Amino acid sequence: MQPRSRAVLSASALAHNLRELSTRAGVPLLLPVKADAYGHGLAQVIQATRELPEVWGYAVAMPLEAAELAALHPDKPVLLLTPAAPDEMQELSDLGVLLQVGTQEEVDALPGAARVHLKVDTGMNRLGARPEEALRLGRVLAERGQLAGIYTHLASADDPDLSSARRQLEQFAHVQTQFPDVLAHAANGAGVLSFGRLPGMSLARPGLASYGYAPEHLQDVLPLRPVMTLHARVGAVHTVYAGEQVSYGGLWTAPHDTRAATVQLGYADGYPRSATGQAQVWVQGERRAVLGRICMDQFMLDVTGLDVHAGDWLEVWGEHSVHPREVAAWGGLAEYELLTGVGRRVQRVLDSTG
Ligand SMILES: *Cc1c(COP(=O)(O)O)cnc(C)c1O
Repeated sequence: MQPRSRAVLSASALAHNLRELSTRAGVPLLLPVKADAYGHGLAQVIQATRELPEVWGYAVAMPLEAAELAALHPDKPVLLLTPAAPDEMQELSDLGVLLQVGTQEEVDALPGAARVHLKVDTGMNRLGARPEEALRLGRVLAERGQLAGIYTHLASADDPDLSSARRQLEQFAHVQTQFPDVLAHAANGAGVLSFGRLPGMSLARPGLASYGYAPEHLQDVLPLRPVMTLHARVGAVHTVYAGEQVSYGGLWTAPHDTRAATVQLGYADGYPRSATGQAQVWVQGERRAVLGRICMDQFMLDVTGLDVHAGDWLEVWGEHSVHPREVAAWGGLAEYELLTGVGRRVQRVLDSTG
């Protein structure tokens, strides 16, 4: 059976973004590939980036993702960004995964061979040790030869007012300078775009920016390209007569006879139901309106006057049609949500040529 929708990833757009970000940060990247590489497909993103010199390694959020990634033999380091449970540490460490630690309990549970990145909480208040405690844990880990890196996470680098991010970086520097021989990283994508080179850092962790998106006020910093183009197939084309309604709730009434294409993509595939009433799709060089409520598996599209047939493929979003940023805005979503919401029925395809 053939899929009815495809997320095509441009290897060249991804390589371009990574080059731009790494150059701006002045360091190689620890590429976040959590949540199936921000919805782009873990295996495809690894394939596209495994040979790139800009990518030092990969970061994941969940132990299951770390195991999945290790099975792809990325030939590059993998860092788990959240705590492993004590009974998972040995297996992860055997797989070569770098563990994150931020508490004494985690340090106590570490297998002897585990290598770790120490997480410093400088204000995100999510994970990690406060700076004074981090200094203490770092010394213990360094003595045991287990400390491979030290890092923090910025809570507000996407805020035009960078004062809180700067405070976080100062706190981090206070700890980091005590461990000059291990890897250090702090910047997410917004951090790279906002700050560029940061003293003392050896890596950066841009996620969303690597896949082509910047916060609005930072959009001119680098020419990032959206990596994903989403395509969906037309299932049928039919006429809706003047005065008739379309889809659940009859939200849209045809003002005149209308040709409607039923497209085989719905909110279960990540096309946001909340974009109902605003969504548009690029068809043969024109923007055409989505008609009525977006359904779980399908939506209807006005193709009046166009040459559209069952079986045709349409570009639902992408670099050269409707920017995914716009679709996210119609749905009241962050780009993070739109991309990670792309469903399992959507086939991920790596385009190595484009
Ligand atoms: C997700 C994540 C990142 C990447 O953040 P972006 O905003 O996508 O650049 C970096 N570091 C940590 C710890 C994360 O959880």
